[in-house]
Amino acid sequence: MDRYALIGHPVAHSKSPAIHAAFAAQTGQAMSYERILAPLDGFVDTVRAFINEGGRGMNVTVPFKLEAFALADQLSPRARAAGAVNTLSFGADGIHGDNTDGVGLVRDLVANLDCPLAGRRVLLLGAGGAARGALQPLLDAGPARLHLANRTAAKARELAAHFTQLAGSVAFSAGGFDDIGSDPFDVVINATSASLSAAAPDIPASVYAPGALAYDMMYGIEPTAFLRAALAAGAARTADGVGMLVEQAAESFLIWRGVRPDTAPVLTPLRTPPVVE
Ligand code: NDP
Repeated sequence: MDRYALIGHPVAHSKSPAIHAAFAAQTGQAMSYERILAPLDGFVDTVRAFINEGGRGMNVTVPFKLEAFALADQLSPRARAAGAVNTLSFGADGIHGDNTDGVGLVRDLVANLDCPLAGRRVLLLGAGGAARGALQPLLDAGPARLHLANRTAAKARELAAHFTQLAGSVAFSAGGFDDIGSDPFDVVINATSASLSAAAPDIPASVYAPGALAYDMMYGIEPTAFLRAALAAGAARTADGVGMLVEQAAESFLIWRGVRPDTAPVLTPLRTPPVVE
């Protein structure tokens, strides 16, 4: 039985063990997946102890994604771009670090929510770890335009500077909430933590194009202040981040086991019904 785990602080609330157990049952993989609460100053020791006990891989959550990045002996290109690691694999050649958050977001949008990004106008709110992880996969999806906006404009501009070379033909820009401008967007993604404090990012109502999707990476708060404000401002539909959670887990599962699980049976019971006002 191969052992995997989620490491974080806290971890008690996480749906990841149930998601991976469902994937393992569905694909017939002999594996276990547990929660490990690491002391705030004990991430590396906890990972090493798990490896010594025969552990094969870990998902990494708050607040250890940067420490996981520093610990990895090899990094995937997307982990390098994100500057953070949420998936560790342990092999004979050392510790491999990857980041599946952003690809999970894009997969949820494109495959589950039928929201193609190619040629579309995308507004990404926030400049923390979640936004950082999402930027390369969003640019790779080929939108016509990607604008990064953050409450603290300087942080958005600083973050965007790391990704300019990856933008290719995408019109990529960054700034504060007050200089988003009046151009509408087809997809507006909230990667801020405002929803944790029941707040909505202070953005103009004009950002929503007809038919626009408002997506909140936050999940478990139904519906968030951002999604309510989005509908009031003219967004046509909403989704929370539970699909991103399930899709990033599926990508980690693929890295570890070499098989991609079918996410639909796992996601459907977890998906919050769209907000209808
Ligand atoms: P960070 O702490 O790294 O970043 C926080 C960001 O939120 C900053 O850009 C900050 O702006 C902004 N912010 C905080 N409060 C407000 C507010 N009241 N109004 C406007 N902006 C605000 O957090 P993360 O990037 O790690 O996480 C962001 C969100 O994404 C969380 O809700 C998290 O749960 C979710 N998430 C979901 C995942 C999923 O699988 N669904 C995966 C990862 C994250 P400033 O710079 O101005 O302080």
